[in-house]
Amino acid sequence: MVSDVIDVVFQLNIVEGKMQYLFDESGRRYLDAFAGIVTVSVGHGHPAVVDAVVKQTKLLQHTTTIYLHHAIANYAEALAQRMPGNLKVVYFVNSGSEANDMAMMMARLYTGSFDIVALRNAYHGMSPSTMGLTAHSTWKYNVAQGFGVHHAMNPDPYRGPFGADGKLYANDLANLLESATPGRIAGFFHETIQGVGGAVELAPGYLPAAYDIVRKAGGLCIADEVQTGFGRTGSNYWGFQNQGVTPDIVTLAKGIGNGLPLAAVVTTPEIAQVLSQRLHFNTYGGNPVCSAAGHAVLEVLDKEKRQEHCATVGDHLLHRLRALQEKHDIIGNVRGRGLMLGVELVKDRQTKTPAKEETLHLFEQLKDLGILVGKGGLHGNVFRIKPPMCFSMEDADFLVDGMDHVMSKL
Ligand code: PMP
Repeated sequence: MVSDVIDVVFQLNIVEGKMQYLFDESGRRYLDAFAGIVTVSVGHGHPAVVDAVVKQTKLLQHTTTIYLHHAIANYAEALAQRMPGNLKVVYFVNSGSEANDMAMMMARLYTGSFDIVALRNAYHGMSPSTMGLTAHSTWKYNVAQGFGVHHAMNPDPYRGPFGADGKLYANDLANLLESATPGRIAGFFHETIQGVGGAVELAPGYLPAAYDIVRKAGGLCIADEVQTGFGRTGSNYWGFQNQGVTPDIVTLAKGIGNGLPLAAVVTTPEIAQVLSQRLHFNTYGGNPVCSAAGHAVLEVLDKEKRQEHCATVGDHLLHRLRALQEKHDIIGNVRGRGLMLGVELVKDRQTKTPAKEETLHLFEQLKDLGILVGKGGLHGNVFRIKPPMCFSMEDADFLVDGMDHVMSKL
């Protein structure tokens, strides 16, 4: 059985992709405003990434990490250069779940504590241990998971009880540590804009206060940048920088490889030291082909000034979506940054009752118009707009005009 979060998209058979456009088997073109769940960063089939992959594939595919390979080392160096502070050690794995698994293990080894805190409405993966971090019933199987994981109140400015006051939500985190843990914890996981959770931006001031509390309890702060990294939020290269914090561990996946299976864990030399107690091995993690793709992505992002582009197009989109909110009562909230936006649909603006059926209907109507957006949030009532970063002003206008059209017919 597939989840209702994604089943409608499954009815499309997509056979080709070119930058921000996808094509189905009949040759019909769709504007892609979801990038395969934010997995395509610089554009479907971006020529520079394709060239890098083809070149490396012809030369050498893989020997596993038993031998050195300059492509992996060069890429790790380029990635570390883009990180702030002392975040200089990079491990490559194949998926976001694996990256978060590894971060969790490192935090436990480094601190000698076991308890981990994540946020409600978070998504951190589907492996048995990351499923425990994830806080959405949709993604939880009835198996043992999350031993030692606690979920703090989500600093959600739209639905949370404390509105946009980040410090009040941080008080709940302090209370959680006092009541549910031995007072010492291994780590705290967070996204900076919750992706699967419906582009929920954490209330301002939350992360600095939360990091203080976590560090006083001996814990590490782990930023999951799987969806928010690489300039997508426009204002900064990394999502956590939008709240002025520097994590101890950062996890990366999805857009890092523009669609190739690549993910990374970045941390400080001191923390990385804990993995030298034993061998660490991952057959495909850090293979030359995916490393070549990841390196090409970094170069394209710089060359094409994609962070600035995300800021400009994102501001325009936000502005137009807010105007649309004035016109259509069904839009309860418009939020996000850069090209990481959410439009939450409600039956009533006072009660904020999720307009789940309407969201599904509009989602289908948009698809019929040739526009693909994402659908998500705890109640499945949020349009998630996270296109490939080459999404243009004209694409933004086409998307909003399309939304206006289908909403006017509701
Ligand atoms: N973290 C976040 C924020 C994600 O959005 C996802 C995937 N949706 C993951 C982790 C897990 O990544 P993967 O599916 O590659 O395991």
